Amino acid sequence: MELEGRIRKAEFICRCCGECCSGKDNEVMVSPDEIDLLCQATGLTRDQIAEPYPEWIRDGGAVFTFGRVLRRGEDGNCMFLADSKCTVYEHRPHICRTYPFMLDGENLLVFECSGCKSGAETPDAEQMAKDLLARREAEDKEFLLTKEQYQKHSMVLGSTIIFDSRGAHLHK
Ligand code: SF4
Ligand code: SF4
Repeated sequence: MELEGRIRKAEFICRCCGECCSGKDNEVMVSPDEIDLLCQATGLTRDQIAEPYPEWIRDGGAVFTFGRVLRRGEDGNCMFLADSKCTVYEHRPHICRTYPFMLDGENLLVFECSGCKSGAETPDAEQMAKDLLARREAEDKEFLLTKEQYQKHSMVLGSTIIFDSRGAHLHK
């Protein structure tokens, strides 16, 4: 079945409960382009919006990670969540736009959330299918460019580096 049909049959209707934006497990990976959009929309700096992906890899004397995630408050909630609502809704990243769906190759994964098993077909399935394909294209591009950056930069002992599609960034 084509993607749109599979999404429709997943019977997902967002309840706008904000649960996917709260708690400590809601790591939202954001690309440099997505961070730029959020900077333009909010007037905040890149560092105010995103922090390094928190799984650091140690290799000899160097420490590094790949990409960034949206910052969260001490309660673990996304910094853009207020009264269970997204305050940057029009500019939200691909991951937020497509939750609870994800493509794994050609497979459609559906994460359990309170909007699932609604008993009615998923509305806007066509748009969700487009968003999922756009997400996959953007993530594949980011992955390949980040890999290139990782391969062309040599590690400096004692440095802490964040690799992304735009280069190797020293983390202070
Ligand atoms: S996607 Fe699910 S968890 Fe997130 S706000 Fe909608 S219903 Fe709630
Ligand atoms: S950017 Fe918006 S949709 Fe995404 S996790 Fe934060 S509050 Fe939720």
